[in-house]
Amino acid sequence: MDIQFFGSAKMVTGSNFLITTDKSKILVDCGMFQGSNEIEKMNFLDFPFDPKEINFLILTHSHIDHSGRIPKLVKDGFRGRIISTKATRDLCEIMLKDSANIQESDARWENKKRIRAGLPEVEPLYTTADAEASLKYFEPYYYNQDINIGDDISIRFKDAGHILGSSILELWVKEGVSNTKIVFSGDLGMPGRPIINNPEFIEDADYVIMESTYGDTIHEPFEESTKELIEIINRTALRGGTVLIPSFAIGRTQELIHELNKYYEYNDVEEYMKIPIYVDSPLGVSATEVFVKNSYDFNKETREMILKGDNPFTFSNLRYIKSQEESILLNKANYPKVIISSSGMATAGRIRHHLKHNLWNPLNSLIFIGYQAEGSLGRILLNGAKKVKLLGEEINVALEIYDLEGFSAHADQKMLIKWLSRFSKKPKKVFLVHGEEESSKALSDIIENELNIETIIPSIGDKINIEKDYVEMWKSTNMSSLKLKEDIENELGNVYNKFDALFNRTDDIYDDKVLEKNYHSLKNKLIEIQGQLMDLNILISK
Ligand SMILES: [Zn+2]
Repeated sequence: MDIQFFGSAKMVTGSNFLITTDKSKILVDCGMFQGSNEIEKMNFLDFPFDPKEINFLILTHSHIDHSGRIPKLVKDGFRGRIISTKATRDLCEIMLKDSANIQESDARWENKKRIRAGLPEVEPLYTTADAEASLKYFEPYYYNQDINIGDDISIRFKDAGHILGSSILELWVKEGVSNTKIVFSGDLGMPGRPIINNPEFIEDADYVIMESTYGDTIHEPFEESTKELIEIINRTALRGGTVLIPSFAIGRTQELIHELNKYYEYNDVEEYMKIPIYVDSPLGVSATEVFVKNSYDFNKETREMILKGDNPFTFSNLRYIKSQEESILLNKANYPKVIISSSGMATAGRIRHHLKHNLWNPLNSLIFIGYQAEGSLGRILLNGAKKVKLLGEEINVALEIYDLEGFSAHADQKMLIKWLSRFSKKPKKVFLVHGEEESSKALSDIIENELNIETIIPSIGDKINIEKDYVEMWKSTNMSSLKLKEDIENELGNVYNKFDALFNRTDDIYDDKVLEKNYHSLKNKLIEIQGQLMDLNILISK
């Protein structure tokens, strides 16, 4: 079996790996390259494999640097199955269409210049129609379902705690008499985050392909950043100013709303301090709707909120804004308020208009809650620029600027090491991807010296033959039939309790005669029912 690294190798974006077994070709992720113009040009190159020959694409999560080239893959001939969690599929539906929109308008803009210069026109990377066509190949699953995708391959998604639906991928490949287990960490989150669960730990693997975005960094605690956020909002409100928060539409925006919901609804906040909070981002609004539909994947705290009848994405002083007219009105309103708007690095979107109308006013505050790439307007402001050119005007920068790093959705160095050290059986090798080289190198040193595991930092295009070693597949070891029966009984117990609370039923639904061969399908069905129960709960919550 070979694994080839076609993206996010010695860089963060463009996640794309190809596994070739004697029977199948499996892609893991098909992300977009993002960053400088040079890097983004790579999106337009032909794939270094024939998309028609790919049997499966397994998607770890919906972020565009993991999913953004799926419409191109389908346009170029892919007709296989796209396997992801349900929440990832639902988020991809809005993200891929949004991405297609951006591609189309980029091409229009480029063509205007080209026509004037007498050059031939360019085509967008893909269109809305391509994005829509790719959605029909998706097959959604829940976490922990055992999925057979052919006689030789089984997979299972574990929660990566990075964004809604994000997964760690466990992949078992059978070749002849040998079985190999490969684990892709996907993007790992930090524990103790709002809404979503903590990243899960994995029992064992022969080989691990692991992210290393923050392999050389340790984050400020999330609670510190949340406390500071509330303090800045209140301080700015009391002096009559507006708070601007550039925010990634998916994930970060919902976490912010969740934290603000907690503050305004679970504390004795004086009425006059409940200033209007506006979410001004069409994609952010649609993404919040997708979140609501996938509440089964939320953490215990957030699910309990919902079960008590509190929707964490609504509170009395929160308003969602979709139309452009309303967005424009916000800048005429002269009262204290918070505007959460995208894009997160202020490189595009409505936030740029809000910045233009607010940067000059020393009463206002600007809060960054995510990574600001080199060259972005966000980074320029963070670096202390006194004037910026924005939408054709030169604007004075006089407001207060804050950077709250505790909101990062990626595991830091400490968490990455902790995650890897929790494998009960040491992996034979760890491949470090999804990180700038210095960051991967810093992590590699610790893994080799402290955990004694061999690491490889592959480069784009590297092809590595994974030796064949015998490891039991989940069918026989990970899930001994005794453990399986216990798990299923626990799940049945949980479901039973929920029904019991709803309908006050006392029927005994256990059945000792359930045949062992049905355990897997029964377990998968139970996970689906639990998801549907949660959907029901969100529907009846306010
Ligand atoms: Zn991600």
